[in-house]
Amino acid sequence: MSQTLPPLDLHAHVVADIAPRTLEGLGAVVFAVTRSLDEYVEVSRRSDAVTVWGVGCHPGLVAAQKGYDAGRFVALLENAAFVGEVGLDGASRVPIKRQIGVLESVLSTTAATPRLISVHSYKATKLVLDLIEQTGAERVILHWWLGSESETKRALELGCLFSVNQGMDPTKLRMAGVPITLLLPETDHPSGNRRGASPRQPGQTLDVERAVGRAYGIDSAEVRRIFWKNFSSQVDSKGVFALLPPAVQRMVRFAQAK
Ligand SMILES: [Zn+2]
Repeated sequence: MSQTLPPLDLHAHVVADIAPRTLEGLGAVVFAVTRSLDEYVEVSRRSDAVTVWGVGCHPGLVAAQKGYDAGRFVALLENAAFVGEVGLDGASRVPIKRQIGVLESVLSTTAATPRLISVHSYKATKLVLDLIEQTGAERVILHWWLGSESETKRALELGCLFSVNQGMDPTKLRMAGVPITLLLPETDHPSGNRRGASPRQPGQTLDVERAVGRAYGIDSAEVRRIFWKNFSSQVDSKGVFALLPPAVQRMVRFAQAK
């Protein structure tokens, strides 16, 4: 491993049958979300070197939400370090009641069996916070968070983290009192990096490092180091180290030693 850790991407959409070499060629550690339990089953047989696949049930997809089964989710979680994409979407065709039922089940399960978890909250920021509070889920990573300043403060009280993409203004998070130690980078490829610096690909979070660096007055190389520290402390607090690919485990240890 080189002396510099690669970029991190805590939320990206990647097709399930992508070639392993393409993923390795990204030069980044990518957390690839799935949209349904079925899709996760498809990728769960893969053994990618630096990609971590999430167990997901996207709030925007009717079939995924209908097909959610709590027992199956619990079983799939056994070997998964990461849960995503899950959440609520106020613009979805899926009735909000069903979405709430699914997310409540997901959050309660991960409160009992801690995992890294990336939560979507588009047009449903208050409801997502209510469910986090109700279920006692800890250290939830709010992905592409667009809540108001008071909601952001409430999210902080609930122990949430924030994954930031190129389409967001990190200054807003800083002004709401979010410390840089609670930030992580994401692309949300292909949606979140639509106007990002090229190459627009999963794992390309250099523009996020620069934007966060500007917002917090920190050099972007230092921002990368902080992101890795933040990520590593999540891994430890969730107890998911052993579930990560060996190469990512080495990077986590390297980040902690620095
Ligand atoms: Zn997404």
